[in-house]
Amino acid sequence: MIEVKHIIKQYPEKRALDDVSATFNAHETTVILGPSGSGKSTLLRTLNLLERPTSGTLALNDLTINFEAPIAKKEIFNVRQTFGMVFQEKALFAHLTVLKNIIEGPVQVKKESVAVATKKAEALLERFGMTELAARYPSELSGGQQQRVAIMRALAMQPEYLLLDEPTSALDPELEAQVLHVLKELAAQRTSMIVVTHNLGFARQVADHIIFIENGQIGYDGSAEGFFSAT
Ligand code: ADP
Ligand code: ADP
Repeated sequence: MIEVKHIIKQYPEKRALDDVSATFNAHETTVILGPSGSGKSTLLRTLNLLERPTSGTLALNDLTINFEAPIAKKEIFNVRQTFGMVFQEKALFAHLTVLKNIIEGPVQVKKESVAVATKKAEALLERFGMTELAARYPSELSGGQQQRVAIMRALAMQPEYLLLDEPTSALDPELEAQVLHVLKELAAQRTSMIVVTHNLGFARQVADHIIFIENGQIGYDGSAEGFFSAT
């Protein structure tokens, strides 16, 4: 479980998060919904310390981080290892093949041997039905394929949680459907996921837990059924 408490993110002209507290359970899909500019991405990026809030705390595993105090490099490393992140787009290394994109993290960060990392990457490619694309470069893939590789690359690090920030909003509808299909399968396998999206239909199909943010404040935090029966 991950818990944030009393998170404030103050920009000079704008309070992006205004006293946000929430928990994120393992083996569930939490979907963060809300209007554009409401603070969804800021909340997501707070979890893996891509964002440094003004104040508040983040607790995960045995670690509690107080954002008003200095954070040790080792703690930042440990928190980042907990998460795999999938961005909206352009997250692959253009000069590396699909296979090398997937093994890069395990080899460089986890110090896995190329042979072991390659075996695992091949298993992921097979699971995603993309074995024949292993030797291609990102520019030779469709947007939907690139995004599925980005998801595999995050999974290759065996994170506790997968974080996805608008993973389909740069895609055409039919490519979006392919990525959503993969995410639905991961959700069905009880992968721990936290997803920022505008796609209400996707939220309705995969979310266990919905957090709705408006103007930097929590408007709803509860079960997906509760959210959709109220709207
Ligand atoms: P969302 O993901 O819901 O679209 P964000 O979390 O990206 O919203 O942004 C929340 C608010 O913070 C927005 O009003 C945005 O303009 C503002 N914001 C985000 N980043 C910055 C920044 N670097 N400087 C100033 N304001 C920012
Ligand atoms: P996908 O099914 O993964 O989203 P599309 O349906 O768009 O892909 O494309 C079908 C085929 O065309 C795929 O095999 C893909 O490799 C190829 N393709 C699509 N877009 C591009 C591109 N920009 N450059 C090279 N090949 C592409």
